[in-house]
Amino acid sequence: VDRIDKATRSRIMGRIRAKHSVPEMLVRRFLFAAGYRYRLHGKGLPGRPDIVFPSRRVAVFVHGCFWHGHSGCALFKIPRTNTKFWSAKFRANTERDARKREALRVAGWRVATIWECAITDRAAKSLPRLVRFLNGRKRSVVIG
Ligand SMILES: [Zn+2]
Repeated sequence: VDRIDKATRSRIMGRIRAKHSVPEMLVRRFLFAAGYRYRLHGKGLPGRPDIVFPSRRVAVFVHGCFWHGHSGCALFKIPRTNTKFWSAKFRANTERDARKREALRVAGWRVATIWECAITDRAAKSLPRLVRFLNGRKRSVVIG
């Protein structure tokens, strides 16, 4: 039985979401400073990617390691209370992420996924990798 009520749960999730928008801001700031122009939250695209380059047909997801369940990552630990709830939640999130990437690929988009830890810890490597992907021809990349 899930012991946290709806209000508490949505407060927790709201905090997590807000916290994890920071990596996205860092990626956007870097790309903008490097001269790249993009759209945000691609409306009408599968999964509404965080950053979209329409002319290049590139979609970028910036994933918070906790929220999106970055397996093996130090930033991802299933909370010790309400473990069942959280496990199911993370599983649903990762499955949804996979469906989004696949839908975009089917629609002819190249898809980059960049993890929070790759930005906060290894930006000097990760952000140039993202730029190489933008300018390259690979179908997809996962950074982090
Ligand atoms: Zn991570």
